[in-house]
Amino acid sequence: MSLILNHISYTYNPGTAFETKALNDVSLTVKDGEILSIIGKTGSGKSTLLQHMNGLLSPDEGDILYNGADILQKDFDKRSLRFKVGIVFQYPEHQLFDETVIKDVAFGPRNMGYDDTKARILAMEALEKTGVEEEVYEESCFNLSGGQKRRAAIAGVLAMNPDILVLDEPAAGLDPAGKRQILDLIKELRESGRTIVMVSHSMEDVAEISDRIAVMDKGRIIMEGAPSEIFGRIEELEGIGLSAPEVIYISRRLKEAGIPVNTAAVTVEEVAADILNLYR
Ligand code: ADP
Ligand code: MG
Repeated sequence: MSLILNHISYTYNPGTAFETKALNDVSLTVKDGEILSIIGKTGSGKSTLLQHMNGLLSPDEGDILYNGADILQKDFDKRSLRFKVGIVFQYPEHQLFDETVIKDVAFGPRNMGYDDTKARILAMEALEKTGVEEEVYEESCFNLSGGQKRRAAIAGVLAMNPDILVLDEPAAGLDPAGKRQILDLIKELRESGRTIVMVSHSMEDVAEISDRIAVMDKGRIIMEGAPSEIFGRIEELEGIGLSAPEVIYISRRLKEAGIPVNTAAVTVEEVAADILNLYR
């Protein structure tokens, strides 16, 4: 799998009073098997960028290569791209239908042309992977908890077996337990070889699960790197309305106080292990 966005720009409502340049010369490569997180404050262009990854939006300028093929060419099969790059939108529970959970999840595979039986099997497998309890398969989506709804929505995309799973704020609005389940699920999916692109507002979540982070500001990608690299640039992040995980501020203070902690640590577990090591 390879997905390359090459110098893409996108403007909403061009030539009107509502014209907004949402993407401005963005280049980004999604690497096979990674968890790539995209951060940036509201309106920086994250969701617009995600919608270019499966051809839902087409850039005004630049090109997009999926496995080397230019997806903007007329003869490119965009329909199949929608199955290969699966997007779970922000608050996907709003898209769940008023029918049973299993039918809802089987919708994607049915759309791909699988018969009812096969679609049902794929839906069950996806629901199992996302940890939705079997007792609720035949219930209405509306009877699910917030966390279950979110996992059912992810199952709906996973059932199509995409190469890349794109998640826009997958843990937003969930309680801590629901959030924990989503993060663990994302890590499990990556371990089984899935490539993940995720947008998140939580710096803690991003620090914990990302292999790489891209930072957006005003329609541009202004930083790209490993979590330790990105969260080492606190002043720049603050300058664009973001911050680093709380624990990074703590390890900074410790360092300033002369305690030699490892500043590459970005999660509570890593920093705690580091501090304890000093006293061994
Ligand atoms: P983010 O996901 O980082 O919050 P978006 O990609 O949603 O950012 O938005 C980027 C910019 O494009 C913002 O200025 C937003 O107001 C504008 N925008 C987003 N969606 C639309 C739309 N459907 N029509 C017009 N403008 C939009
Ligand atoms: Mg958004």
